Amino acid sequence: MRSHVWHPNTQMSEWDKFDCIVRGDGMWLEDSGGHRMLDAVASMWCNVWGHSEPELVEALCRQARTLPHSPLFNLTHPAAERLADLLVRACPGMGRVFYSDDGSTAMEVAFKMAVQYWQNRGCAKTRLVGLANGYHGDTVGPMSVGYSDAFFGAYRSMIPQHLPIYAPTPGHGAADWDGTLERISAALESRDDVAAVVMESGAQTAGGVAIYPDRFQARVHDVCRRNEALLVVDEVATGLGRLGHMAEYDAQGCRPDIASYGKMLTAGYVPLAATLTTEEVYDAFLGRYDEGAHLFHGHTFSGNPLGAAVACRNLELYEERDLMRHVLSVSRLFADAIDAMADEPRVIGVRRCGLLAGIDVNMDAGAGLSANRIMYKAGREHGVYLRTLGNTVLAVPPLAASEEELSGMLAGILDAILSV
Ligand code: PMP
Repeated sequence: MRSHVWHPNTQMSEWDKFDCIVRGDGMWLEDSGGHRMLDAVASMWCNVWGHSEPELVEALCRQARTLPHSPLFNLTHPAAERLADLLVRACPGMGRVFYSDDGSTAMEVAFKMAVQYWQNRGCAKTRLVGLANGYHGDTVGPMSVGYSDAFFGAYRSMIPQHLPIYAPTPGHGAADWDGTLERISAALESRDDVAAVVMESGAQTAGGVAIYPDRFQARVHDVCRRNEALLVVDEVATGLGRLGHMAEYDAQGCRPDIASYGKMLTAGYVPLAATLTTEEVYDAFLGRYDEGAHLFHGHTFSGNPLGAAVACRNLELYEERDLMRHVLSVSRLFADAIDAMADEPRVIGVRRCGLLAGIDVNMDAGAGLSANRIMYKAGREHGVYLRTLGNTVLAVPPLAASEEELSGMLAGILDAILSV
C-alpha cells in the first residue's frame, strides 16, 4: 500500500520503503519483519534509558490517567512546577524555566528573550552573533543564527541575516578556535547592537561534531561580559549528560544568561523543551501590563503535563541511578573504541567527547545516493540503526547503555563502515 508519510530531511526518491519499527526493547528497535537493530543514535539523540523503561512508562500512564493536558495560560500544574525545580537545581545560575515543544522552539524563545531583554532595558541591541557550522534547529529563527549553506541554502531568501562568525569546519585543516574567538571579540568590540552570542554548549553537533578546545566557551563568555552582550547556550543536544555533565556549560566554565534543553529532557519519550534564564534576565520582563514588557510567546502545549511528568521521573532517575557516573565510566570504553577506528583505512578522522562521536568515512556515494542512505543500509545489515551527517557517521548511544551494549553498537558501526 502506498505511504502518505513525507519523512524529515529526506530525499524521498532514494527510499522505496522504510523499515517499520513496531517495538522498542531496551537499546533495541524491532521492525515489522522481526529484524532488530541497536539504537546507535539514541533515536535522534533523545533516548536515555532505552525504549519502554517501566518507570517512565508508569509516570506517563499515571499522568495520563490524572491530567493529560492543561495549559500554563492562567494556570499551573504540579508536574510543571516540580520539573522547573529539578531543572533549576541541575543548572547553576539559572532561576526561571520557560517551556516549549522541541529544540527549535526552545531556541526561538531564547532569541526572543535575548532581543527583548535589551529592548526592555532601553537599549537598541537587536543582533545575534552565531558561529558558522552552528546548528539550532530548522525553524526560521534558528536557521538565521546557525546558518549552514548545506542545510538552509534553499531558504536563504526568507532567513533574516544575523552575524555569522567563521568557525573551523571539522575535518578541514587545523581547527582555528583562537581565530574564531578573535572574530567574536572583534565583532562585539566594533558594534554596539549585539544582543547575544549564541553557541552550542561543549561542541557543535550537526555542523559535523566539532569539540571545543578547553576554555573556548569560557573565553567566549568573558568576551560577552566585557562587551555587555548576553550569552545564549544551546544545550539541546549536548546537555543533560551527552558529554558527561548535566549542565554542560558548567563543565565548560561559563555562566550563560539563557540556556535551552530538549531531546533527552523526557528521555526521548514525549516532545518537550525548556529555555532557562537567570533571575536577572527574568526581572527585565517585569513591569506594568501596559508597558508591554512581558514575553510575547506561548505555545498551546507549553509545559504539557505528560511531557513534564516523564521529564520529572527521568531527571529523578538520573540522580537515583547516578547516571553521570555511569556515563563517565563507560565513556572510557567508548573513547578507546572510537580512537581505534581512526586507524582503519576507510576512516579519515574521528572526534569524540563523552558519549558522542563523529567518524569521517571515505566513501564514494556513487549512483547519486546519499552517504546516509548507504550507511543506513549497511548499519541495518550489521544490526545498528544509523543516521549520518554527510560522510560523518555518528555514534550517539542512549546514555544508560551497558558496556556490553556499547561494545555491540561500536562493533556494528565499524563493520558497517568497513562494508561500504
Ligand atoms: N539545537 C541543537 C544543538 C540540535 O542538535 C537540534 C536538533 N538536532 C536542535 C537545536 C533542534 O531541536 P529539534 O529538532 O527538537 O527542534
